Amino acid sequence: MSAAATGAEQAETVTEDQQPLPRHVEVAIVGAGFGGLGAAISLERAGFRDFAVLERGSEVGGTWWFNSYPGCQCDVPSNLYSFSFARKPDWSRSYPEQPEVLDYLRECTRRFGIRDRIHLDCEMREATWEEAEQRWRIDTSRGEVFARVLVVAPGLLSEPKTPDIPGLDTFEGETVHTARWGEGRDFAGERVAVVGTGATAVQLVPRLQPEVERLYVLQRTPPWVLPLLDRAVGDRLKRLYRAVPAAQDVARGFVYSLREPLAVPMAIAPKLAKLLEAVSRAHLRRQVRDRELRRTLTPDYVVGCKRMLLTNAWYPALTSANVELITEGLEEIRGRILVGSHGTEREVDAIIFATGFTPTDPPIAHALRGTDGRTLAEAWDGSPQAYLGTTVAGFPNLFFMYGPNTNLGHNSIIYMLESQYEYLMRAMRAMRDRGLGRIEVREDVQRAFNEGVQRRLKSTVWNSGRCASWYLDADGENPVMWSDFTFRFRRLAKGFDLDEHHVAARARDGAGREPTAVG
Ligand code: NAP
Repeated sequence: MSAAATGAEQAETVTEDQQPLPRHVEVAIVGAGFGGLGAAISLERAGFRDFAVLERGSEVGGTWWFNSYPGCQCDVPSNLYSFSFARKPDWSRSYPEQPEVLDYLRECTRRFGIRDRIHLDCEMREATWEEAEQRWRIDTSRGEVFARVLVVAPGLLSEPKTPDIPGLDTFEGETVHTARWGEGRDFAGERVAVVGTGATAVQLVPRLQPEVERLYVLQRTPPWVLPLLDRAVGDRLKRLYRAVPAAQDVARGFVYSLREPLAVPMAIAPKLAKLLEAVSRAHLRRQVRDRELRRTLTPDYVVGCKRMLLTNAWYPALTSANVELITEGLEEIRGRILVGSHGTEREVDAIIFATGFTPTDPPIAHALRGTDGRTLAEAWDGSPQAYLGTTVAGFPNLFFMYGPNTNLGHNSIIYMLESQYEYLMRAMRAMRDRGLGRIEVREDVQRAFNEGVQRRLKSTVWNSGRCASWYLDADGENPVMWSDFTFRFRRLAKGFDLDEHHVAARARDGAGREPTAVG
């Protein structure tokens, strides 16, 4: 990532056209990242224009706004990591960097004219289902909103996880989590520790290495790393995409069809993961000469069990003279001294936590109260589940985007989100056309769906690949990954069936007003 993505510059459009929060809307959408913005645009395009997007950040973008750390780059090609209904012919690279993805999302809000219904710096604190009024009462940091339908798109990877390390609160230097990078950070000439070796760290470390005096990388578990086939997109190709949009459709389809078969070694026939391991081992051999270092960088679990990482810069950065790889977890901090799990001590000026997120315990689940007054977190009891990652029994008129078991190890999450928009639109049309005020997935449907997903997950690399990953919850269940091809998920979402839901005719809402959906 270039310096272009500092928080200061990101703040350029903060609160631009900020509208007062409406009191009543047909649909409230929580989150203005890919999930929430795509839902809003889909509603707009389908003629359901009475919606409000509530975003806690000071700009749209979600994860692409908050993750402004140097080097942040998408590991899905740009042609596929964009809405199918909002093509961009001029991506500068095959794998876009964070500022460009953020710009794309901002541009989408303008292109589809939804900016006036996005409310920034507006955090949802609690949402409670009101049965008599068939609506959600939503308490936000900017006031109360009532909505018949609530779409929650908080992002799976949005709540930073910083390990509870003894001595952290008395550390004398600077600390930062990569997902809260903010503005104006400069570690030039400092002794810096990066904790973690996941997708974030492998992007950050190569950008940080040339700037800092000394860089300590704390590795608890080595990742499997594959070559990144990234390149600048030439002007001729951009002109072609502009002149013949179908050419970009073909490119998108081609990238999709190259990635989709990767579901086979991940989910269908994990034995084939050996092929990916061979590629990764060759990549390591090519980039790291030192045998001993190679050994410490070689994982002992099945490739894909943790997210596979794409980078050509990670190993060269680790072998730079000012970098030391410490193959220990961070156990304790004493003053400015970091203490590793085997007792190694290093003095540092700053600690950067690239330690991930809390996807199996999303904070929003503690803030949603359903029909029986319990929160979603209480209903889930430690293991999130939904029907098609979208609807939850006991929580009427609630639609999750990127909900439980929708994450992928092999393809673009945008494809999954667009399948969920399809489900949402079908539900919205059913509610409008049949005069429904309430729709709730049946518990037996949700249970049967989840039993199937969990059964299929058992043999996948994520469950049986001998690693501890953020895909698994405390009970060893996997409430995160989709267990199959993405096109199967799409087919199920398109097969939206009203009979799988409890429905009720519409009562008038609390304002004594009939909702205004058209289209
Ligand atoms: P992550 O994959 O959860 O990695 C966290 C890292 O912190 C792991 O290496 C973990 O070690 C380590 N860690 C945690 N506590 C530690 C301790 N006390 N001492 C030492 N190490 C510790 O988090 P992430 O790298 O932020 O990535 C999360 C997800 O975000 C990715 O899997 C990906 O889906 C997404 N992401 C995508 C991109 C992209 O599109 N290119 C970029 C960044 C992130 P263990 O492995 O031993 O637990």
